[in-house]
Amino acid sequence: MPLNVPGILVPLHLLINPRLVVPSVVVRDIRQLDFQALYRAGYRGAVFDKDNCLTVPHEDRLVPELTEAWKECRETFGPGNVLIVSNTAGSHMDVGEIEAESVTYHLSAPVLRHPSLKPSYSCINSIRAYFASLPRPIRDEELIIVGDRLLTDIVMANRMTRRRPVSDSEKAASEEKRLESDLGLSRPDRVGPLAVLTEGLWKREALALRALEKGMLKSVERWVLSPHEVAWRERMQHRFVKPMHVEEEVLKVRDGWLRRLWDRLRK
Ligand SMILES: [Mg+2]
Repeated sequence: MPLNVPGILVPLHLLINPRLVVPSVVVRDIRQLDFQALYRAGYRGAVFDKDNCLTVPHEDRLVPELTEAWKECRETFGPGNVLIVSNTAGSHMDVGEIEAESVTYHLSAPVLRHPSLKPSYSCINSIRAYFASLPRPIRDEELIIVGDRLLTDIVMANRMTRRRPVSDSEKAASEEKRLESDLGLSRPDRVGPLAVLTEGLWKREALALRALEKGMLKSVERWVLSPHEVAWRERMQHRFVKPMHVEEEVLKVRDGWLRRLWDRLRK
């Protein structure tokens, strides 16, 4: 695994802004995302991580279980508006861009070529340049950014947020009225992409780091977020996340302590 220097520096940034690690919504996998609802709400483009989000890590094919959801996503946003941004395929380690070509072929979606790894600002600039170059350019706040890692995918999405511009008329309005007027789509004080965390793993990897990330998130949720921010996340979760099917719930349990026990007994 190559050294991800932008990733290593993230904890320093989190000391200044711990909210960077907080996803807007959390799903098991992309089947839970209501793409139609996202489109109706004004989202026009999507950025997807590859490994453990769409594919088994280091494989180029979509996980078969996601076929329907992936098709629906591309049909909803339009093929060119769905971009794969990976720290493997399309990065500087993808010599000859062979993996990027293969992923584009198998997933029927473009893979961003970027010189610097997620969550660097250089990678963010490459994403912005891609969406700005479309026939109908897409702004940061019209994007959803989906991935399985808090310190890369979610931090990157949150780094793309900016302070909410306050117009003169809005200044006059009370804070409560302002929150009502934006239909609950914007964070209380910031605008930017919707950061979507996928929790289900298609292959177990970096478990210690993931546990550390989750611990950080729990602490931030408990000690840093304001009631407004908590309410905003609940609204987003309710609005854009479909309930998990029963068989998926069963799978989730199997992936948990029962699965671990079963795996241990079989050894
Ligand atoms: Mg990943």
